Amino acid sequence: MALLVVGSIALDSVITPFGETADALGGAAVFFSLAGVVLHPVQVVGVVGSDFPEAHLGSLARRGVDLAGVERRTGESFRWKARYSYDLASRETLETRLGVFAEFRPQLPPQFRDARFVFLGNIDPELQLSVLDQVRKPGLVACDTMNYWIHSKRDVLLELLRHIDILMVNDSEARELSGDWNVYRAAHWILGRGPRMAVIKQGEHGALLVDSTSTFKVPAYPLQEVFDPTGAGDAFAGGFMGYLARTETCSFQNLRRAMVYGSAMGSFAVEAFGVQRLEQATLPEVHGRVRAFRDLVHFDLDGDAP
Ligand code: AMP
Repeated sequence: MALLVVGSIALDSVITPFGETADALGGAAVFFSLAGVVLHPVQVVGVVGSDFPEAHLGSLARRGVDLAGVERRTGESFRWKARYSYDLASRETLETRLGVFAEFRPQLPPQFRDARFVFLGNIDPELQLSVLDQVRKPGLVACDTMNYWIHSKRDVLLELLRHIDILMVNDSEARELSGDWNVYRAAHWILGRGPRMAVIKQGEHGALLVDSTSTFKVPAYPLQEVFDPTGAGDAFAGGFMGYLARTETCSFQNLRRAMVYGSAMGSFAVEAFGVQRLEQATLPEVHGRVRAFRDLVHFDLDGDAP
């Protein structure tokens, strides 16, 4: 039951109130795979430039990430630079240099075409569709996007929605896509366009799983130290999909557990700069954090409740 991700592999430069990094390992596919691989093997499809440090790829390979779908092309790697506000709640993108990512045309190696769990990271929806075309018999397809594609390729994105099971976006993206400020109505608008489920990420407020008949909420893990929120959403997706691939079932209860694994992975991502904490995370630590979530939200009804 292979798990496949397509998305950016980047050199990130991030400034937070606590420090900064330059050309650190980043990108949506990287955060996803470092989170997912703790739970299940991950296959990555992406592109890097000639300047991408071999050591960065080495750290992914050492964690067991399958890089057979990562192409190295002549030219500059994708670079992204951002600065966070004092409370880490908002960020400003200072620079996006696409480099070889501009010409990215994902090609799945033959052995990746049997993937059952597929995560289409935030790239051009036309490319997301082309990846989906190359997978023989996907069992569960989840997809991310961003405001840029919502505005510039809305029609293709709406076409893509008809072919996926889960749209996984943050609350502002759900609002922009649906044109509705209410996040629950926005989720139902999404369900009306094709996906069976919508996962709405709400940063430090956790995440929602919405299907046609129910809503489930997982909080964010209550961390006392947050250093760098970059990649939390992609790590969440890696934990969510990794858990589903590991357990091979998408039952109602399992999807809810997957949300908790997603939130646990998101919490590892933000605890240190870049991928530093995530790439150290162990399975027992992840299970431990999942148990802590149960304690965080568990309560008993008192005798008066019906
Ligand atoms: P997140 O914090 O979940 O929004 O993800 C941040 C990651 O997305 C960073 O590691 C960036 O390298 C990557 N990223 C930023 N902008 C883009 C973009 N336009 N396309 C693809 N990946 C991006």
